[in-house]
Amino acid sequence: MTHITDKKRITILIGLLLILGFMTTSLVSYTTTTHAVRRDLSEDVLPLTGDNIYSEIQKDLIRLVFISSMMATDTFLRDWIRDGEQDPAAITRYLAAIQAKYGTVTCFLVSEASHTYYQSKGVLKTVDRDEPRDNWYFRVRELNTPYEINLDVDLANSDALTIFINYRVEDEQGRYLGATGCGLTVTSVKTLLEEYAHRYNRQIYFVDSAGQVALASSSKPPPFARLAEVPGLRGLDLSRQDPASRSVSYQRNQQTVLLNSRFIPELGWHLFVEQSIADKIHHNRLTLGKNLLISLSIGTLILLAIYSTVSSYQQTLETLASTDTLTQLSNRNAGEILFAQSIREARRSAKPLTVILLDLDRFKQINDRYGHAAGDAALVSVAATVKERIREADSFSRWGGEEFLLLLKECSLGHGQEIGEQIRKAVEETTIYFEGKPITVRVSLGVAELAPGEEQEAFLKRADQALYQAKDEGRNRVVLAG
Ligand code: GH3
Ligand code: MG
Ligand code: MG
Repeated sequence: MTHITDKKRITILIGLLLILGFMTTSLVSYTTTTHAVRRDLSEDVLPLTGDNIYSEIQKDLIRLVFISSMMATDTFLRDWIRDGEQDPAAITRYLAAIQAKYGTVTCFLVSEASHTYYQSKGVLKTVDRDEPRDNWYFRVRELNTPYEINLDVDLANSDALTIFINYRVEDEQGRYLGATGCGLTVTSVKTLLEEYAHRYNRQIYFVDSAGQVALASSSKPPPFARLAEVPGLRGLDLSRQDPASRSVSYQRNQQTVLLNSRFIPELGWHLFVEQSIADKIHHNRLTLGKNLLISLSIGTLILLAIYSTVSSYQQTLETLASTDTLTQLSNRNAGEILFAQSIREARRSAKPLTVILLDLDRFKQINDRYGHAAGDAALVSVAATVKERIREADSFSRWGGEEFLLLLKECSLGHGQEIGEQIRKAVEETTIYFEGKPITVRVSLGVAELAPGEEQEAFLKRADQALYQAKDEGRNRVVLAG
């Protein structure tokens, strides 16, 4: 029975190795790709998104500055102020034309002489030093630089958050005449945020220096209003105002979120771009699951193949060990086992058991005359002739070179004699043709019936003696043991 456990052990061992191999490969590839995804996100994708948004903002700002500077140096505008702001409709038309041409949200002019605030639709109001909303004008008046960028709500545009360029208007001698410029609502920046949020599932928002969320995409706003509400972001240093971007990762709702932040000096805000790695890794998890499933299926198929190969190989070995290759009968080894088994069975059932020892007559002469191959053919032929005349239950084995043992179960000596005689006759009447030459063979047979209490050796010896006697008495005959 050890060979069966061997077979199982081999299969289990190979199975374990296969599973270990497949699992290791799948897991290694999973962790590698997961790491790559993480690195890709925090080192490339998120900073790049920040760069794009920043450059979009800069593009808008540069355009605004350009338009505003053009207005501030426009001779018509300067002359119109200097000439005492005679025709408000003229400046209104001028502002409306600029606004239409460049697609800005608002264009304005505030004159220093009258403090009147003109815009495309007419006179809006007069700026007042005591009005906090007009502070910007008095700030621009004191400015050492030609312009300022101001993020403010637009009075003329239902208080939408607007980026203004406030440009100083000076005459040829450098005297201050007023402030002009254009404004752009942050909708263009917001559109960009929406696009990124929508298309790439990224959360993008601006945070002011106090840690308050100042602007976010409306479709995917961060689930907090202040950084201080998020434990992982509380420690972020917002006083650092260099434009280099920073990457951090933090936990939110049991998910790892990668965050890239950069300071935007023009707005005084920090731009935050973040993405949870879960939705990126989700695909990897699916792949891992698929890989493991495929590995399992292939592993099972390989194991089945190994099991059946080992089984059939083992069967072949077992057959080889117990079969005579020339006649395909049981060999001496298997014959001995069958013999002992038959004796035990006969004793237990109290049924007769008869054996016949059969030996080819003058077989040496056949070999000598026709050759060894012809002798082999004769052995095969005799085996076939005998097989045809016995029952399925009887066992027949090649006992030696040209000697065979036949075990006849539930068979008396007399019946054994009949069978022996039939075999002898059948062999005698069979002509074997080897390479066209006819060969006839004769056999001698010794028959013995198992005596009560008789041992295997003694039993066989009696059959052998009977065979010897048959040879002695002239061969080609059946002799019964006494
Ligand atoms: P007897 O009638 O007394 O049995 O004479 P015999 O020649 O058959 O007996 P002996 O024992 O003298 O010779 C048996 C011969 O059988 C010798 C051996 O070379 C031959 N022999 C044994 N096994 C094989 C075999 O597998 N093939 C062939 N061709 N010959 C075999
Ligand atoms: Mg012989
Ligand atoms: Mg012999």
